[in-house]
Amino acid sequence: MEYPMICFNGGRPEKDGTYDEGTRNGMISVIIHEVGHNFFPMIINSDERQWTWMDEGLNTFVQYLTEKEYDSNYPCQRGPARNIVDYMKGDKSKMCPIMTNSESIYQFGNNAYGKPATGLNILRETIMGRELFDYAFKEYSRRWAFRHPTPDDFFRTMEDASGVDLDWFWRGWFYGTDHCDMNLKEVKAFRLNTHNPEIEKQFDRSQKANKPKDVSLEKDRKENLETQVKSDPDMRDFYTTFDPYEVTTLDKKEYEEYLAKLSDDEKKLMQSGKFFYQVTVENKGGLIMPLVFDLQFKDGSHQEIRIPAEIWKRSEPEVTKVFSVNQEVVSISLDPWLETADVELSNNNWPAKVVPSRFELFKESRQGPSRENPMQRAKRANN
Ligand SMILES: [Zn+2]
Repeated sequence: MEYPMICFNGGRPEKDGTYDEGTRNGMISVIIHEVGHNFFPMIINSDERQWTWMDEGLNTFVQYLTEKEYDSNYPCQRGPARNIVDYMKGDKSKMCPIMTNSESIYQFGNNAYGKPATGLNILRETIMGRELFDYAFKEYSRRWAFRHPTPDDFFRTMEDASGVDLDWFWRGWFYGTDHCDMNLKEVKAFRLNTHNPEIEKQFDRSQKANKPKDVSLEKDRKENLETQVKSDPDMRDFYTTFDPYEVTTLDKKEYEEYLAKLSDDEKKLMQSGKFFYQVTVENKGGLIMPLVFDLQFKDGSHQEIRIPAEIWKRSEPEVTKVFSVNQEVVSISLDPWLETADVELSNNNWPAKVVPSRFELFKESRQGPSRENPMQRAKRANN
């Protein structure tokens, strides 16, 4: 058996024993990463000259898990979905699928390390769940320890150990360069027609009152236009003063007859006071992803709704789903926890939200106040 030789470079302190944060984190990351290579590819012995991602990508993924276990405040770079966004939305002519021979890869770090590590994290947190993912990933490691797995062996084991069909995910994330951009295109609010004239006629009346004013009629009003009906009583008839929204005894009688025909279940649904929201999402990026929604209600509470990626089997590139909830919804946000690497967040909210950003005052020559590291500054401050 061969033993890997692991070499750590960099991470040296200054002469006074201090070091800056970047040096510290670089050193910690490289140690975690290189130790991980004992497993990928030394024990689970894939061919890195052919498929770099099989050792670097998988190892970067376990590096990410280890960094989080070391310190929850650790500035992990590769793993979280939000950190791959800049790469995913980049120039496609400078990108190639992860499934590209190692000699022909553009942007080696993002392609062979960052994107596969992020893909596994998305599978674990958003698509499969931790329990299924961890079991399948360990099963791959067990099955292929001291053997020579190819990409198919990895894909197949992840699927048959978990019982989850992931073909669509391998195709999008490993064999393509599409990015995720989901557009929360439309939200329509519906309510049940209660047939109760007291409610429905009031509703119709307010719908009419809430319509924008007609510009011509407004100008006529300001000019005190004297209409025929106003000036001449002979011009008036029944309909001049008829209020179609007034509830009559006949309306009430008809409603009672309608209620008498309903079953108990139908009556229950009628009285539930449910609110319905029909939500349409358009897939603009091409990459398939599950849909995660956060609904905020009038009283400030929230509800999370997660829809598996399989919904896209029904219709592409647009899907529509109806949510039935107990309260009025004031806002809906898509991918609220930034777990799908959606590259465009300005179309993820209903009503639309301004994505915060800031202008930096640009100075031509930046004169840094000091080249000290924070440890040196802290020492100087204490003296
Ligand atoms: Zn490596």
